[in-house]
Amino acid sequence: PREGLEEQLGRLEGAPYGRYKGLVGTWRLPGDGRSGATLRLVRAQADPFAPPARAALHLPPDAAAFPAELWATPVRRRALASFLARRAAEAAHGEKSLRVDAGGQEVLDRSSCTVGADGGVTLRFGLALPGKGRRIDARYAQRLMRRTVPRVAERALRYGALDAAAVREFVETVEDSDALRAALPGLGLVAFVADGAVLPRGSGVDDRPASGPGVVPFLSPENLRVTVELPHAGTVTGMGLPEGVSLVVGGGFHGKSTLLRALETGVWDHVPGDGRERVVSRPETVKLRAEDGRRVERVDVHAFVDHLPDGSDTTDFSTDNASGSTSQAASLCEAVEAGARVLLIDEDTAATNLMIRDARMQALVAKDREPLTPFVDSVRSLHRDHGVSTVLVMGGSGDYLEVADRVLMMDAYRPSDVTARAREVASVPTGRHAEAESFPAVVHRVPEPSSLEAESRGRRRVRSRGEDALTFGEHEVDLRSVEQITDSRQVTGIGLALEIMVRRGHVDGERTLAEALDLLDRDLARGAESLLAVRDEDFAVPRRFETAAALNRLRGMRVHRQSPLPAGNGAGA
Ligand code: ADP
Ligand code: MG
Repeated sequence: PREGLEEQLGRLEGAPYGRYKGLVGTWRLPGDGRSGATLRLVRAQADPFAPPARAALHLPPDAAAFPAELWATPVRRRALASFLARRAAEAAHGEKSLRVDAGGQEVLDRSSCTVGADGGVTLRFGLALPGKGRRIDARYAQRLMRRTVPRVAERALRYGALDAAAVREFVETVEDSDALRAALPGLGLVAFVADGAVLPRGSGVDDRPASGPGVVPFLSPENLRVTVELPHAGTVTGMGLPEGVSLVVGGGFHGKSTLLRALETGVWDHVPGDGRERVVSRPETVKLRAEDGRRVERVDVHAFVDHLPDGSDTTDFSTDNASGSTSQAASLCEAVEAGARVLLIDEDTAATNLMIRDARMQALVAKDREPLTPFVDSVRSLHRDHGVSTVLVMGGSGDYLEVADRVLMMDAYRPSDVTARAREVASVPTGRHAEAESFPAVVHRVPEPSSLEAESRGRRRVRSRGEDALTFGEHEVDLRSVEQITDSRQVTGIGLALEIMVRRGHVDGERTLAEALDLLDRDLARGAESLLAVRDEDFAVPRRFETAAALNRLRGMRVHRQSPLPAGNGAGA
């Protein structure tokens, strides 16, 4: 590292703002004794009104001094880093020049803080470099580097300054949640919801747990109760949702959607006190919904849509403006193509005509006048022939009672297993007949790199726009309906993941999308470091599924197709 950041700054008092650039590089942290802490100016700011400069504060293992058990595994490092980012944001609070991205209720790999395999800690943050008009305000800058930044290091990044019990609890909570998720396949479960979990949130815009006397903690129905041993919490009981087709029924306002949302977010770990610390679902769980207006590129949707009035070929279906039902059909096929093993669907956001077609409607409208084949007729085959389970919230139609392996009823926020009663009800014929026999093999698509590279010219081809959109070259990708994006910084992460897929040649014109995503997964398994190699900015690491969702919505992406694989082999990962 270079020495004398303060002195260098002193010489820049009143100099043109652009000369901050000369400070880019790694410096000894001002005022630091022998700890070896460094402050790196990653990127300067072009002018006082541009986005803040980027800085990285690094404490070597001896200076951070965390006991090895807190960072011995990748999961513990992610948890510790998440804890430290939160403390750093608190320590920087009130200092508007420092912007530390702490994250919300989920414990994600993010760029703002990483813990190395050696126990060293790096905090990356936005740093608004002070100016007086267009001149450098060196006094203020010196104070930031000598006082403010070291204070954050001192208070938030050193073990000795932290509440040891709180750090331990955080790391252990995340490790338990991770272990619980890892145990699901062996137990034949798609999800687990612990007794005592608090599922409802503060409000539609507040992801913290609901509080007050009205909150009903989760209690598992006896016959779905499962006991698991966790590394730290010990014996835990809760509802184990088995593989297959699960239906959630119950009156309106009785908590069905709240349960499903908890399963959606169960792919992530949660902070202690969140209420969903022990609510987990399989990592390959994908929430689906209708999303009219989206783009679809060469997806085989004929399982759901056939004989369109305009005669288009639905085994090779493209549109720039999908309807509610075709958008959901495409999203489902794409999810299976990308390797989903569990699908979540809520009647509140599903296309009704894709979900159901009852006996009376079958009698009135002949099958050859109806392009849509409802999901109720392929949901079983999806599990039987493809190993893809479904959890479906459906309070408004009884047609699914016949195809469900188990039926869960929510009653005043309490679930009970009503499968036996549902079987009785379903044994009375409705006169409805099935419209499909099986769900066909996935047609894998091969993305054309040129369709992604053509847009790679120019400087920053992928940028996040606001909370839920990306610009990719000249195209905008709307991600509002990709509901498992749990943190707006993941949108930035998705942009970087797309860049990696192109730059590293994962998308090479021969690999299928699923194969390219397998390679991406290997990168992402290294945490934030993999995407930091593309660009240092605030992001959270996304999953393959949300990255695929962005690619699938990208107007401009072109693909060619492979011939279908035999059923059962087609699910990618
Ligand atoms: P449904 O989908 O069955 O119509 P929701 O899941 O939307 O019902 O829940 C309806 C309302 O009840 C929401 O405001 C939600 O926050 C609240 N709620 C859900 N679960 C609980 C619970 N366990 N305790 C208290 N309130 C809850
Ligand atoms: Mg609902």
